[in-house]
Amino acid sequence: MLYQKNAVSRHHYPLSNQTLKKQNRPANIPAHYYVGDRDQNIHHARLRMNCSPLKAHLFSKNIIDSPHCQCGVIEDTYHYFFDCPLHNEIRQQLMQNLSFLGNISIRDLLFGRYDLSPDTNITIFKHVHTFIRHSKRF
Ligand SMILES: [Zn+2]
Repeated sequence: MLYQKNAVSRHHYPLSNQTLKKQNRPANIPAHYYVGDRDQNIHHARLRMNCSPLKAHLFSKNIIDSPHCQCGVIEDTYHYFFDCPLHNEIRQQLMQNLSFLGNISIRDLLFGRYDLSPDTNITIFKHVHTFIRHSKRF
């Protein structure tokens, strides 16, 4: 018993925050899902999971009566990133920043691209976070 107690206590060494973050991160989740400011990261994850405060998401969960955006069109994730006239200026900046991708899909913005390097996916996510922050939608 004493031996077991000592054996356990040997594992109670202080861990750095970096070590803790690595240990708490499941291996199958890409590193770019963890980049950026926490608020933007949470909004981005909610958009990815269709549980954001966008009207279509709230409507699908019977939280509100209408899925329509202020501009009159159904406010889903595609509308938010690609269509809504309320975000035209910041969208132009986003598309310019991501023009190196060629054709940009909603999937690229939400999940990154698995054929690209981790650094490139981090760049994509940071630009998406900037869009989310500047949209002041959440
Ligand atoms: Zn709209």
